[in-house]
Amino acid sequence: FGFKGCQKIRGAQIRGLLEAKDFFLFDCDGVIWHGENAITGAAKVVSALIRRGKNVVFVTNNSTRPRENYVNKFTRLGFTDVMLDQIFSSSYCSALYLRDVVKVRGQVFVIGCEGLRMELLEAGIPCVEETDDPDATIYNCALAPDVKAVLVGHDDKLTFLKLAKASCYLRDPECLFLATDNDPWHPLSGGRILPGMMMVPSCFMFECISSQFRGVDPAQCLMVGDRLETDMLFGSNCGLDTMLTLTGVSQIEEAQEYRNSDLTTNHSYVPDYVVDTIADFLPAFED
Ligand code: PLP
Ligand code: CA
Repeated sequence: FGFKGCQKIRGAQIRGLLEAKDFFLFDCDGVIWHGENAITGAAKVVSALIRRGKNVVFVTNNSTRPRENYVNKFTRLGFTDVMLDQIFSSSYCSALYLRDVVKVRGQVFVIGCEGLRMELLEAGIPCVEETDDPDATIYNCALAPDVKAVLVGHDDKLTFLKLAKASCYLRDPECLFLATDNDPWHPLSGGRILPGMMMVPSCFMFECISSQFRGVDPAQCLMVGDRLETDMLFGSNCGLDTMLTLTGVSQIEEAQEYRNSDLTTNHSYVPDYVVDTIADFLPAFED
């Protein structure tokens, strides 16, 4: 208890940690890339880990694209050996959750981008068709009779009509309300931000990973992320060691504040380790 964690590590300490762990979970934006720019050295780190027989997976709260697009993005940004089964996006995990946990019978009303719908359809989950009628309003539109869940993800075409329909469906107490992720906002270039979902985080993403890789032991995993309130919380909740990389949203001072806080719930945001960038792993791969 108390003042543990937040340990800035380098050199031999990083080498020891990389040797001790056999499963690496990397958040994407702020850790692996910023938008369309790879973090310098990240591709080398990923391929060095894979070459050493480590399991590497990528977790992302970005629900807007199907997993295939991430494979293409990794290739485009110079990551040569990343495959579909290493990608766990919030859209993919939401689809698995609806299919395997909720076992949803009926349709899902989706507020989100095309990538979210594509993952649901891929998992065999029927979605309510979007209307393209420009004159449709909540007063004249039809509502589907069998909506069993409303799933909300980042939607760059959010309309009042979609919100109004979601409210109607949610009046049925048997209709579930789910969100893809818990990011409060996302950084854009030039200091602008995008609003996010801000929901409660879920360990289901880790359950997806451990059900698809044999023998995943939380004690052997390292969760690397750039945001304390999502990535570090996710890691702590799932019993994983956590590492904050300072190439993204959160600063080390915020981590130290959480660590020094009297409020014990704040301690779940404290990373075990801190690095400036995952490129700090590179010297550990030199023999
Ligand atoms: N969701 C959206 C819509 C985003 O634009 C981003 C970041 O760009 C994210 C989520 C966060 O992605 P990640 O979880 O990979 O940091
Ligand atoms: Ca991130």
